[in-house]
Amino acid sequence: MKIERAVLSFSPNAIRKPVTYLLVSNYKLRLNILRAKVMPGEEGRLLLELSGDEDKIREGLTYLASLDVRIDRVQSFYSVDCTKCTESKKCFQVCPADAIDLNPGSERPVDIIEDNCILCEKCREVCPSGVFTFTF
Ligand code: SF4
Repeated sequence: MKIERAVLSFSPNAIRKPVTYLLVSNYKLRLNILRAKVMPGEEGRLLLELSGDEDKIREGLTYLASLDVRIDRVQSFYSVDCTKCTESKKCFQVCPADAIDLNPGSERPVDIIEDNCILCEKCREVCPSGVFTFTF
C-alpha cells in the first residue's frame, strides 16, 4: 500500500465534479482531506492524502488531470527564507505534524519536511522573522 499527498486545484467549472467520490469508487483509494479551500466562483483547492494500490493512485490522478484538475506537490505552496531565521524554534514547538526540520548553526537552520506538512500555516503565524510564506 502506498500513501501519497497531493494538492488538487479545480477551476470554477470543475468544482462541481464529484472527484473525491470518483477516486474512492473507481480506483478504490482511501482519502484523507487534510486541508480544503472552496469558494463560489473561485479556484478550489484540496490537500489530499491518498492511500491504496500504487497503480491505482497513478491512474486516479491521471483521470483527475483529464477532468481539468491540476495536481501539485505540497512543496509548491510554501517557501522557507532561511536568511531571515533567528533560530527561535517557535515553529518547531507549534507544528502539529512533526514537519519542522531544525539544523541549528547550519546554512539551512530550518526546513519543512514536505511529506509531513499539512499546510496549516501555524509556523508562519508564530515565526517572529517572517521565514515562512504560504500560497495555499
Ligand atoms: S504549515 Fe503546519 S504542518 Fe507545515 S511545517 Fe508549518 S506548522 Fe508544520
